Amino acid sequence: MKAIVIGGGVIGAAVCYRLAEAGTSVTLVEAGRVAEGTSLTSFAWVSACEKIDSDSYFRLSLAGVAAHRDLVAEFGAAGNWYHRPGVIQWLGAGYEGLPLAESPLHQKLSRLAALGYSAERIGRDDLARLEPCLRPEALDIGEEAIHYPEDGYVEAPVMIGALVEAAVARFGMDLRTQTPVRRLITVNGRAAGVETATGEVFYADVVINCAGRWANDVVGSPDFTVPLAPTLGLIAYTPAVGTAIRKVLRTPNLNVRADGGGRLLLRANDMDETLSADDVARPDHPAAIELARRLGDLIPSLGGIHAEAARIATRPIPQGGLPCVGTLPGLDNYWVAVTHGGINTSAFIGIALRDEILRGQQAPEYAPYRPERFFKAAA
Ligand SMILES: Cc1cc2nc3c(=O)[nH]c(=O)nc-3n(C[C@H](O)[C@H](O)[C@H](O)COP(=O)(O)OP(=O)(O)OC[C@H]3O[C@@H](n4cnc5c(N)ncnc54)[C@H](O)[C@@H]3O)c2cc1C
Repeated sequence: MKAIVIGGGVIGAAVCYRLAEAGTSVTLVEAGRVAEGTSLTSFAWVSACEKIDSDSYFRLSLAGVAAHRDLVAEFGAAGNWYHRPGVIQWLGAGYEGLPLAESPLHQKLSRLAALGYSAERIGRDDLARLEPCLRPEALDIGEEAIHYPEDGYVEAPVMIGALVEAAVARFGMDLRTQTPVRRLITVNGRAAGVETATGEVFYADVVINCAGRWANDVVGSPDFTVPLAPTLGLIAYTPAVGTAIRKVLRTPNLNVRADGGGRLLLRANDMDETLSADDVARPDHPAAIELARRLGDLIPSLGGIHAEAARIATRPIPQGGLPCVGTLPGLDNYWVAVTHGGINTSAFIGIALRDEILRGQQAPEYAPYRPERFFKAAA
């Protein structure tokens, strides 16, 4: 079996790796370098705790978390991209993605407990113990937070690099970077391959579109598009600092976590809402300045800090906000995998699409999220 995977982000890398590992002859076609798309600019939280109001989304997210654990375990010492320092989420912190769990804290905790999800309520003293660098009033009196001791994040570029390298070195994957796809080739109602911007053609038995926010740009025909409702996100990066943050922090006005080498990574929902398409990501972007100010407010030893870098990315969100993973109706050897929260579910998508493509087994976790829902709605 020959497969073409379009796009070397976190999802494309996971799909390539699992297909190549299973003996498929895979060509990964990437417009630029791998790990240059949205996966480069992500908070990359790996968790299921925000999906508790939807049984199916919770189940999917949990499968995502488990697949990350399994994947790094398979890589042994080289599986160094998944960190689980624990996450502290303040009451009133915004949600990354869909507001699926806006319930009061006690309801959320009892639901999480019923689901067997590791979560504990913490107060001021606990916070001071868990994260001593924060100003003592960080959790104002009367406020509470939830500590998810097993949650964490992924360094997506590191994961992508490891999977792509392993697919090439161990399983002979053909990696084509700097090769933008401009159209999907179909013959008699089946995907036959892709044509690149230079007119080069690659043929395969199956094509998997993992181009994220560009998923509709690579197909070259409105017949193969799925409705997307993307949003912008800005992440600011501090210089290396001598203040260690142990946990991932999701406060009401700032999300912050370590980003390697002593740098911290910052973002906030309300800052994202101020962005527009022509904004240039620079450390002196007003949103980056404000994020750094909020960091100094949260951690006194970082007062007056400035962002060293900023990036803006587009979230690949299907219309309605939920994932879109599966074949397009009428084109049963062509898959699309576009989703927000794509870091969270990437390792699972690799397994789910491998099993569907090679064994004809559709993952029940994706049953509610298949592309056909858009086409039924249109019919
Ligand atoms: C600010 C922000 C915060 C986020 N926080 C989280 C979070 O906490 N947890 C989480 O799980 N998710 C989060 N996300 C979402 C997550 O980052 C994305 O869902 C995920 O990175 C999507 O990965 P992908 O592989 O689909 O896309 P991408 O990483 O964008 O990869 C697509 C690839 O396709 C390539 N491509 C484009 N056009 C072509 C072409 N013509 N030919 C060939 N290749 C092409 C691109 O170069 C790119 O490499 C966040 C996103 C943002 C922006």
